[in-house]
Amino acid sequence: MAETPTVRVEEKLYQNRYLVDAGRPHIVVAPHEKPSKELLLLVKLCPAHCYDINGKGQVEVSPDGCLECGTCRVLAEGSGALTWTYPRGGYGILFKFG
Ligand code: SF4
Repeated sequence: MAETPTVRVEEKLYQNRYLVDAGRPHIVVAPHEKPSKELLLLVKLCPAHCYDINGKGQVEVSPDGCLECGTCRVLAEGSGALTWTYPRGGYGILFKFG
């Protein structure tokens, strides 16, 4: 009986490449004193771990490595907590399949 191949998500994601558009982040968190519940959720939900809490308790985003899955856009853009656009052509995630 043939063995079932083991696939690790982390290894697959490592195959992707990301071209940073320096100084032009495609996701911007709105200034805030206390983060909304949507922003706090993103710290846990973003599959690329782009969101984090800084020393002041505010949520920050570092979109380098963003998979453009749209989770944060769906969850938080409508509340005004962030603005989300696709990166300019040629920048952002470069998916490697296979
Ligand atoms: S689009 Fe997806 S991967 Fe990119 S920052 Fe939002 S949740 Fe994370």
